[in-house]
Amino acid sequence: MTTLFEPQAPTLVPIVGHKEMFPVRRVYCVGRNYAAHAREMGKDPDKEPPFFFLKPADSVVPGGGDIHYPPGTKNYQHEIELVVAIAKGGRRIPVADALSHVFGYGVGLDMTRRDLQFAARDLGRPWDFGKSFDEAAPLGPLYPAASHGHPSKGAISLLVNGETKQHGDLADLIWSVPETISFLSDYYMLQPGDLIYTGTPAGVGPVVAGDRLTGRIEGFADLDVTIVPAL
Ligand code: MN
Repeated sequence: MTTLFEPQAPTLVPIVGHKEMFPVRRVYCVGRNYAAHAREMGKDPDKEPPFFFLKPADSVVPGGGDIHYPPGTKNYQHEIELVVAIAKGGRRIPVADALSHVFGYGVGLDMTRRDLQFAARDLGRPWDFGKSFDEAAPLGPLYPAASHGHPSKGAISLLVNGETKQHGDLADLIWSVPETISFLSDYYMLQPGDLIYTGTPAGVGPVVAGDRLTGRIEGFADLDVTIVPAL
């Protein structure tokens, strides 16, 4: 069997302490999973069922570095997030078993064209143009749970040009990692290679070309990203 053109290679994320890379299959993202961020988005943070959107696997930028200011927006924003990497698939996963499906964790950015997201939200349209675009998901190296554990608390923050903009604690997640995995697996067959961006704390805001972003979660190396001019 031959193909019309070379199939796109999977996105590969480095793993701390491993030679092997983590091949990305899908990228699920939780919306509004910290109360203070839900409020800044103008929404009630009561514990309603979580909701999700997806980003293309090839929007992941392993290791961060330079990303381009995207087209079509005048309000391009950062969202720092803990990212869960799934190594064992499953459906209808009980909360008590959920962590056994996790390979490890990383520091990620859910980059967002906020003006397009809000326009879609307010019209009841899909969020894709606001959330799913090239280079929209920088991600640092993965830390295996087997060697680094499962973080359930610890500071999470985002700095722009050295100044703290977002700050929160993983303990403040409305839906914990096990609850999120369990809920998602009621709607999708999770598979090895899936990533889950778990939501962002308060303090999101716009960035422009030239800005340097530092994503920081206690126990992880910083994720460094620089916004470079649009293509
Ligand atoms: Mn987000």
